[in-house]
Amino acid sequence: MTESAPTRTLPLVFAAPKKGKPPKHWADLGVDERKEAVVAAGQPAFRASQLSKHWFERFSHDPADWTDLPAALRQDFAAEFFPPLLQEVKAQTCDNGDTEKLLWRLHDGALVESVLMKYPNRTTMCISSQAGCGMACPFCATGKGGLQRNMSTAEIVSQVADGMRRLAARDGGRVNNVVFMGMGEPLANYKAVLGAVRVMTTPAPDGLGMSARGITVSTVGLVPAINKMTEEGIPVTLALSLHAPDDELRDEIVPINTRWKVGEAVDAAWEYAKRTKRRVSIEYAMMKDINDQAYRADMLASVLKRRGDWGWVHVNLIPLNDVPGSRFTRSRDEDMAEFVRRLEAKGVPTTIRDTRGDEIDAACGQLAATGDQA
Ligand code: SAH
Repeated sequence: MTESAPTRTLPLVFAAPKKGKPPKHWADLGVDERKEAVVAAGQPAFRASQLSKHWFERFSHDPADWTDLPAALRQDFAAEFFPPLLQEVKAQTCDNGDTEKLLWRLHDGALVESVLMKYPNRTTMCISSQAGCGMACPFCATGKGGLQRNMSTAEIVSQVADGMRRLAARDGGRVNNVVFMGMGEPLANYKAVLGAVRVMTTPAPDGLGMSARGITVSTVGLVPAINKMTEEGIPVTLALSLHAPDDELRDEIVPINTRWKVGEAVDAAWEYAKRTKRRVSIEYAMMKDINDQAYRADMLASVLKRRGDWGWVHVNLIPLNDVPGSRFTRSRDEDMAEFVRRLEAKGVPTTIRDTRGDEIDAACGQLAATGDQA
């Protein structure tokens, strides 16, 4: 980077402020806890499955529809176990309605976003795990606002349940893939995120019944948390936001690198792939004249190939999306093409990610939850 580049001003923040915990919700409870809660409310345990069926299987969040429950109980159950966690502030669509960005207000006023993306054969939902983010990557809109707080398991799951409800009402579709690539650093909110993954992958009616393989957790590279996830043995896909193959540059554009270096992050990702047999994605946002030089493609290939050649990894190049006030811009097409060519020549499978949603600021790194986009 040039000498004149302004230096980073935002600090790295790990511990989320302990503000107004969101109310406990059905989706925060384990299956046994749900039964206990219903019994404690003076009702037979089987009511727990009835409630779960409505919420996780039928995506019915309106107690008036819970007709197999005594009418007098519905409102009480709703009030006790299903406090509203996400209030829709705004929904914007583009790509002929195939991309929809949702802005949510949480109980304490914090704003977060999720994005639904419909493809011909699947629907992917990009969800948030924190209000804001403390990782301070200077090219990302979310990082600019700092970290407000961690989201709870139920707040995280509610985004997906809402997506399911929308699709079911529209055309009977489902959310097939979930990517933790919205606001926040999921591994800095480890417990709630893993809890959410468990609820999503628990078979219906106790959970959303999704395949772990359809879930991607994307991280800046919190090495101890990646290692912990390796031990969980849940076969979710891991994405590592690398963005630079060398420590000198990565220290600047992904500040967590001052804590855990490229080599350590890549080793942790490699171990994850080895143990889970899930191919890891390396995310690399292409920034003009910053990280897109041909020699960096060669460096990236050797960093990845050093860990063996058994198809453990593939590279996702993300054409950088615009962030207001950012000094970073998108790479030239010819530089991206050369970058891909060099990686593939060295046997590293590479794709250029589409830039879904950029006209409504719904693309990677553009989620700022300000709600002021026209
Ligand atoms: N904190 C997590 C997940 C959220 S971001 C992480 O960093 O992995 C999802 C992806 O979008 C990350 O790879 C992130 O680096 C990338 N990204 C951030 N800002 C971007 C921008 N302006 N253009 C393109 N991708 C960006």
